[in-house]
Amino acid sequence: MDPARHFQVLIVGGGSGGLSVASRLSKKLRHNQVGVIEPSDKHYYQPLWTLVGGGAVNINSTVRSEAAVMPRGAEWIRDAVTEFDPEKNSVRTKAGRTYTYDFLVVAAGISVDWDKVKGLAGNVGREGICSNYSFEYAPTTWRTIQSFKGGDAIFTHPATPIKCGGAPQKIMYLADDAFRQRGVRDKTNIHFYIGDPAIFKVEKYAKALLEVVARKGLQVHYRHNLTELHLDKHVAVFQDLARDREIVQHWDMIHVTPPMSPPPFIKSSPFANEAGWFNVDKNTLRHPKWHNVYALGDCSSLPTSKTGAAIRKQAPIVAANLLAHIRGDQPTALYDGYTSCPLVTGYGKLILAEFDYDLKPKETFPFDQSKERKSMYLLKKHVLPVLYWKGMLKGRA
Ligand code: FAD
Repeated sequence: MDPARHFQVLIVGGGSGGLSVASRLSKKLRHNQVGVIEPSDKHYYQPLWTLVGGGAVNINSTVRSEAAVMPRGAEWIRDAVTEFDPEKNSVRTKAGRTYTYDFLVVAAGISVDWDKVKGLAGNVGREGICSNYSFEYAPTTWRTIQSFKGGDAIFTHPATPIKCGGAPQKIMYLADDAFRQRGVRDKTNIHFYIGDPAIFKVEKYAKALLEVVARKGLQVHYRHNLTELHLDKHVAVFQDLARDREIVQHWDMIHVTPPMSPPPFIKSSPFANEAGWFNVDKNTLRHPKWHNVYALGDCSSLPTSKTGAAIRKQAPIVAANLLAHIRGDQPTALYDGYTSCPLVTGYGKLILAEFDYDLKPKETFPFDQSKERKSMYLLKKHVLPVLYWKGMLKGRA
């Protein structure tokens, strides 16, 4: 058996959270003291998938090779973690290797459970079914919207935590615009089935979104969770959570946001909380029992909306607290739950929601961000991707 490799800091996941922390730490620590375990040779900028589905952005602009974005000074291990052993400060991988660490940072994302809706797995891109929730499928959404000739257009938001809570409805607003441009909107019924009891968690933005829904003539069904797709008849089955019954809905096109859950290797680990998320203190981002262990991003227990924007604020906190620990100091950097959701409400229109753990708006700009603005749409489409590739991933923003 190979001897275990040791890193001062071992990072699990080379996505948004893992690489944002890796770049910050690799600038401060000796060369090759930071290891990043990441199975994929591709790195994605997922927030643009909404605009890919809306036909406004090319999918190829959302991907880079993992090697190209790996920070200099960090070592990429192309493998996947299968087990954690916090008593031995070690992890096991799919390739059967063991890695040990002084500090562990986990940012392994969220599992997208395509197989938890009967009839969904393997059928995206056919029979009017589409989804923005993967690199492979996002282009199917635009193909579906473009070839739609009218009828029932359905959009779903599951009753589980998801990444980017606004994404399931943003694509509906773009589709509504696209249908109007193509002259098919007046022969179309648009329905939004959402597991939550409200359109958005923060009242200020919910109010603005309900005005958009009313203006566009969309039908919203709260507390409904998609469970099954019958491809032969184009009929979707939803659980009506409030009345504990099933209802059926015909579709001509259906955009599905699948249920999501903690990655199984985290759920079954000693680090998980009761719900299966990687348990960390909501302010220091450190595990409550194993103090040399941190987590951030979608896989974490942080009770805020799961977004890349949240990670932009979490990564500096993890880096600062971990470096303080190395110096023998206490972790004093505290995360306030900041997250942001750029709510695209049409082509050239966006409400920029920004808020904290208390669901209080925490806005960047000196104007009312609950108003739809073209400037904010341009920010999402052109500025935020550059900030991501050149700023956040490089540990600069
Ligand atoms: P990821 O970036 O998903 O990275 C997780 C990494 O862990 C992956 O590279 C994966 O391969 C790796 N991994 C998985 N299992 C293992 C393992 N066993 N061992 C090692 N590595 C593993 N955010 C916004 O801020 N604004 C938006 O407008 C926005 N819109 C979105 C729209 C869509 C359609 C989607 C899908 C997402 C959107 N997001 C948005 C959310 C944002 O992309 C995520 O919240 C963010 O990427 C999460 O970062 P992460 O590091 O936690 O996970």
